[in-house]
Amino acid sequence: MNAWPALVPELDRDAEAAPDAAPGSLVAATNLRAASAADLTARAGTVAAVAAAHVEAVDRDSRFPDEAIAAARAARLLGIAVPRELGGDGAGLAEVVDVCYALGRACAATAMIYAMHQTTVACLVRHGRASAWHQRFIRRLAGEQLLLASSTTEGHGGGDVRNSAAPIVRNGSRIALERQATVVSYGRAADAIVTTARRAADAAPSDQVLVAFLKQDCTLEPLVGWDAFGMRGTCSEGFRLVASGCGEQILPVAYAAIHAHTMMPVAHLTWSGVWAGIAAAAVERARAFVRNAAQRSGGALPPAAAQLTRANASLRTLRSLIAAALQRFEAAAADASLLEAIDFQTGMNLFKVNASELAVATVTSAMQSCGLAGYRNDGEFSVGRHLRDILSAPIMISNDRILANVAAASLLNGAPSSLRD
Ligand SMILES: Cc1cc2nc3c(=O)[nH]c(=O)nc-3n(C[C@H](O)[C@H](O)[C@H](O)COP(=O)(O)OP(=O)(O)OC[C@H]3O[C@@H](n4cnc5c(N)ncnc54)[C@H](O)[C@@H]3O)c2cc1C
Repeated sequence: MNAWPALVPELDRDAEAAPDAAPGSLVAATNLRAASAADLTARAGTVAAVAAAHVEAVDRDSRFPDEAIAAARAARLLGIAVPRELGGDGAGLAEVVDVCYALGRACAATAMIYAMHQTTVACLVRHGRASAWHQRFIRRLAGEQLLLASSTTEGHGGGDVRNSAAPIVRNGSRIALERQATVVSYGRAADAIVTTARRAADAAPSDQVLVAFLKQDCTLEPLVGWDAFGMRGTCSEGFRLVASGCGEQILPVAYAAIHAHTMMPVAHLTWSGVWAGIAAAAVERARAFVRNAAQRSGGALPPAAAQLTRANASLRTLRSLIAAALQRFEAAAADASLLEAIDFQTGMNLFKVNASELAVATVTSAMQSCGLAGYRNDGEFSVGRHLRDILSAPIMISNDRILANVAAASLLNGAPSSLRD
C-alpha cells in the first residue's frame, strides 16, 4: 500500500508569483482536495502566528512552546497524517513537510517538535496498521491530539540509531524496558514515547524493535538537562526511561525495516522542511535589512545585497532539493525493494547532509548580509537565533557519521551515464 500518494512538485511557484516574498510553501502539490489543502494551510498559519508570538520567550527560557503546541492541538494539526478512516485528515508527506516549513519560519523548536512527532506518527501509521493495539492508539492520537516523542539515542551511542543496548524483558504477555534515553525532546510534555529497543536480552544490538509506551506506562528519571546553543525549546533532556506494558505495544515489523522504509526518510524530509523554514525566515530578515539600507540611500543597493542574493540562491537550491527528495521517496514508497535499495538509502542519507549544509549556508549568508545588525541578539534584523537553531542541523545525527556510513556505497557505483539517471 502506498501510504504517501504521488506528488507533482512545482518548484518555486510562489517565488515566481511574488519574487520579494519568502515562499509560503515548499511544495505546491497536495494530496488533499483544494479546499482541504487551503484549510490545512490556514490552520498551519494560525499555529505559526502563535509560535511566532512566543518564539523569543521559548528561546530565552529554553522552555517548551506550550502556546504553539496547544494551538496545534486546537487546530488538529497533530493528526493530519492519520488516515481518514482512523480519524485524521489523510494528508500526505508533502503536506506534512509544508507544515514543518511554515512552523520553521515562525519558531524552530515548535517546528522540530512537530517534525519529530510526525516522523513517529508515520512509523505507526505505516507499520502498525496490522496491529489492533496500534490501530486503537492511532485513532486515539487523532481523536485526542496526542503528542508523541521519540527515543533512539541511548547512553553514549550518540546517533547510532541502528543499535540498541537495553533489551525488552518479557514476563508472559507483559514487557518491560529500562533505557538510558540520553536525548528525548519534549519527553516531559509528550503523551507517549516511541522508543527503539533490543528485541531481547539474547538478541544482537542491531536486532531492534520499536515500542510505543503511553505516558502512564513510563517513569522518566532525569539524567541530563537541556541548556543548548539552539533549538532550546525542544527541551531535549536525557532520562532513565523505565517503562512497562503489554507485548502488543511492540510494532509488528522489525525496526530494521521501519528505519529503512519510514523513520530515516521521513525524519530527513520533515527535518529539512523545518531547516528550510528557519533559512527562509533568516532570508526575510536579510531582505528587510537590504531594503531598509536601499531606502536610506535613495534606492541604491548596498554591498550587502550580494550576500542576500547568495542566501536566496542557496534557499532556492534547498527547496528544490527537498521537493526532489519528496518526489523520490513517494515514487519508491509502495515498493519495499526500492526503499531498501542501496541507491535509495544512500540518496536519502546524503539528502540530509546536503539539506543541513545548505540550510546553514543560507542562514550564514543572511547574517553576513545584515552585518552587525544580524550578528546582534537584539533588533529587528538579528539572525542570531536562526543561526543558533540551524547549527543543530548537521549534528542531529551527525553528518560525519552519515558520511562514514555511506562511504562504502560510494565505491559501488560509477558516475551516472546521463544527467537524468
Ligand atoms: C535538537 C535535537 C533534538 C534531538 N531530539 C532527539 C530525540 O527526541 N530523541 C533522540 O533519541 N535523539 C534526539 N537527538 C539526538 C540525535 O538524534 C543524535 O543522537 C545526536 O544528535 C547525536 O549526538 P552526538 O553528536 O553526541 O553523537 P555522535 O553521533 O556519537 O557524534 C559525536 C561526534 O563523533 C563524530 N562521529 C560519530 N560517528 C562518526 C563516524 N562514523 N565518523 C566520523 N565521525 C563520527 C560526530 O561527528 C561528532 O563529532 C536530538 C538532537 C538534537 C540536536
